[in-house]
Amino acid sequence: MTTSEWLKKYNIKLKKSLGQNFLTVRSIAEEIVTKSLVTFEDTVIEIGSGIGILTEELAKRAKNVISFEIDERLKPLLIEKLKNYDNIELIFKDFLKADLSQIRDYKKLKYVANIPYYISSPILEKILKESPNFDYAVLMFQKEFGGRMIAQAGKAYSPLSIFVQTYYDVDKIMDVSKTNFVPIPKVDSVVLKLTPNHKNLEELDPDKFMKFIHQCFSNRRKTLKNNLKSIISNPETLLKEIGLNELVRPEVVPIETYIKMYKRLEG
Ligand code: SAM
Repeated sequence: MTTSEWLKKYNIKLKKSLGQNFLTVRSIAEEIVTKSLVTFEDTVIEIGSGIGILTEELAKRAKNVISFEIDERLKPLLIEKLKNYDNIELIFKDFLKADLSQIRDYKKLKYVANIPYYISSPILEKILKESPNFDYAVLMFQKEFGGRMIAQAGKAYSPLSIFVQTYYDVDKIMDVSKTNFVPIPKVDSVVLKLTPNHKNLEELDPDKFMKFIHQCFSNRRKTLKNNLKSIISNPETLLKEIGLNELVRPEVVPIETYIKMYKRLEG
């Protein structure tokens, strides 16, 4: 049965507010799982089961799949569709409110998901801060959002780029055209692999470091010096020590320089 036929059978109308754009092409789900290098030793967490198209492909290759879905209307459909698999645990809960420390059997843990796009940033923060140790996360994002995640200093560069690239090593896995979803969204998607950068996680507290970065970007049209005035009394001295021009704008400063500035301030 196709995705649309499953939805029709259970009389489910998709909700835009929950980011419900479901994959319709099984081969794309297969490709994502293949490229995620999931093995029979892995426990995989999925965020957003939908009608289980990716869940099923994951279950064929992983030891266990733990799949979160907020929309309880999908429960009977998922139970029927996935009835032949005994290695899937469906959790009908808001992933953002889930207690991830309760997850057991995570000797080798990965995240693989076509996530609800409206909570992309909170998901990235939650798995970084609350998840048990995981190898990496292979997640699908809106293409434009993915572009901002991997942007280097320049126009698309933002606190999001700095957060992602400081705490994760990022690799592009594949592009996915919007025509592979129902309903067809306005934009294409991209699948990225995010591997936690443990060194930076140990050295830079994400909440404090990101508070500093947001202050640096508080007004993009102002100079970095002006933005820094809200947190330090003599930004000129700091900029000089770091080797930055006083007229520099926040979006042209590379990540390593922000890390250096933050460490100096912390010190
Ligand atoms: N994985 C499916 C697929 O590829 O077809 C569905 C992807 S769809 C983009 C995102 C799914 O996440 C939807 O089923 C939606 O109901 C679910 N969702 C939305 N917000 C959620 C949340 N806070 N926690 C868990 N699931 C959520």
